[in-house]
Amino acid sequence: MNVVDRFLEYVKFDTQSDELTNLTPSTPGQMVFAEFLEKQLKDLGLSEITLDENGYLMATLPSNVDYPTPTVGFIAHLDTSPDMSGHNVRPRIVKKYDGGDITLNAEQGIVLSPTEFPELLNYVGQDLIVTDGTTLLGADDKAGVAEIISAMEYLKEHPEIKHGRVRVAFNPDEEIGLGAHKFDVPAFNADFGYTMDGGEIGELEYENFNAAVARVTFTGRNVHPGYAKHKMINSMRIANQFVIMLPRWETPEHTEGYEGFYHLVGMEGTVEKTVLTYIIRDHDRDRFERRKKELEHLARKINNEFPGCCAIEIKDQYYNMREKIEPCMEIIEIAEQAMRDCDIVPKVVPIRGGTDGAQLSFKGLPCPNIFAGGLNFHGRYEFLPIQSMEKARDVVVRIAAIVGERK
Ligand SMILES: [Zn+2]
Repeated sequence: MNVVDRFLEYVKFDTQSDELTNLTPSTPGQMVFAEFLEKQLKDLGLSEITLDENGYLMATLPSNVDYPTPTVGFIAHLDTSPDMSGHNVRPRIVKKYDGGDITLNAEQGIVLSPTEFPELLNYVGQDLIVTDGTTLLGADDKAGVAEIISAMEYLKEHPEIKHGRVRVAFNPDEEIGLGAHKFDVPAFNADFGYTMDGGEIGELEYENFNAAVARVTFTGRNVHPGYAKHKMINSMRIANQFVIMLPRWETPEHTEGYEGFYHLVGMEGTVEKTVLTYIIRDHDRDRFERRKKELEHLARKINNEFPGCCAIEIKDQYYNMREKIEPCMEIIEIAEQAMRDCDIVPKVVPIRGGTDGAQLSFKGLPCPNIFAGGLNFHGRYEFLPIQSMEKARDVVVRIAAIVGERK
C-alpha cells in the first residue's frame, strides 16, 4: 500500500485527545486506531509487536546484517489536537497546485489562500491533501505514522537495503503533553530515536522550549460597593496590575526564534478571588529560571502593597532536549546525511514548543524530531504536500540504512 493511501485510511479514525479525562489513552478512539495499526504491523511481518493497556504500540524490524549495529527507533503519535474536531475528516487531493486560492468548503466560504498562508507558494506544482474546511486533517501526526509504517514495508520489500535492528512506536496523547508519560523506554530498547512529528519538509529539531506553568491567585475582600471605601479589595483590579507589570513585548505574539515569553492563557475572576494562569517558555535554561523568579518577585511586590493577597504556584512542565542531544550529535549528523541523500536541504530550527522526543530524551532515549511534511497544524487549514510525505518515508528508510552501516 502506498503512503498516501495509508494516510487517507488513517485519518478516518477519530483520535482527538482530551486533556480532561485523566485516562490513558485519553480517548477510546486512539486505542481503536492502535489496534488497527497492530494488525497492519502483523500483516507486514514485523516482530516483537506489543500493544499495552495505555495504547503504546511497539514493533521491531529485525536486523538483516550479521554484525551488531545500534538500534534506531522511529516514533509518531496516534492522537490529533483537542483544538479542532477530527471527526469525519473528509480529505481531498488538490492535484498540481496552481498557486491560487483553494476553496475548502464552498457552502461555508472557507478558503485556503496564499494571501494568508504564503507557505502554500512553496508547493506550486505539487499535490496537496487538504480538508473540507470543517475539521483538521490529522497530518499531525498520522502523516508520521503512515511514513514510518510505509518505510518498514519498503525495507521488508527491499532486503538488498542493509539495516540493523529498527524499532517503531506509536503513542497516544502527545497533543495533551502526555505522549512520553507512560512510554516504556527500557521496553523500547533503542539506542536513540526520531519522532516523525515536525512540519515542513527538511525540518530537523533538537532544541525546544523549557516550559513551566504558573498559577497566580489574588484574594480580595468584597463589600457592598456603596459602602466600600477603604474596605473593598478588588482582586481583579490587583490581578490587572500584575498583568501590566510584565514586559509587554515578551508575549507569543511579539516573539520568534529563540525569544522566550510569558503567555497569559487564563484569567478568571470575581472581586473576592482572581486566578491568572501563565505559561512560561524559553530555550535558554538560565533565562527560563529568571522568568520564573521574575513572577515570584512581582508577587512579592503585590504583597508589599496588599499583604497576603497574592499566592503563586509554579510547576515545570518540560525542558530543552538540547543538553541531552549535544553529547550524541552524531544522531543529528545521521539525520542530516539521510536528508541530503534524499535531495532535501536540512533546516535545523528551534521548536517553539515541546515534543514527545524532548521528554523521551530526558527519560534516556535521545530523540530529535524530523519533519512529517504537513503545515498549519491543529486547524481546518492544515494541508499535507504528498511529495513531502514521500520524502519523509524515504528519510526513514535512509536513516535505517546509514545506521546499519555502523558497527
Ligand atoms: Zn504532533
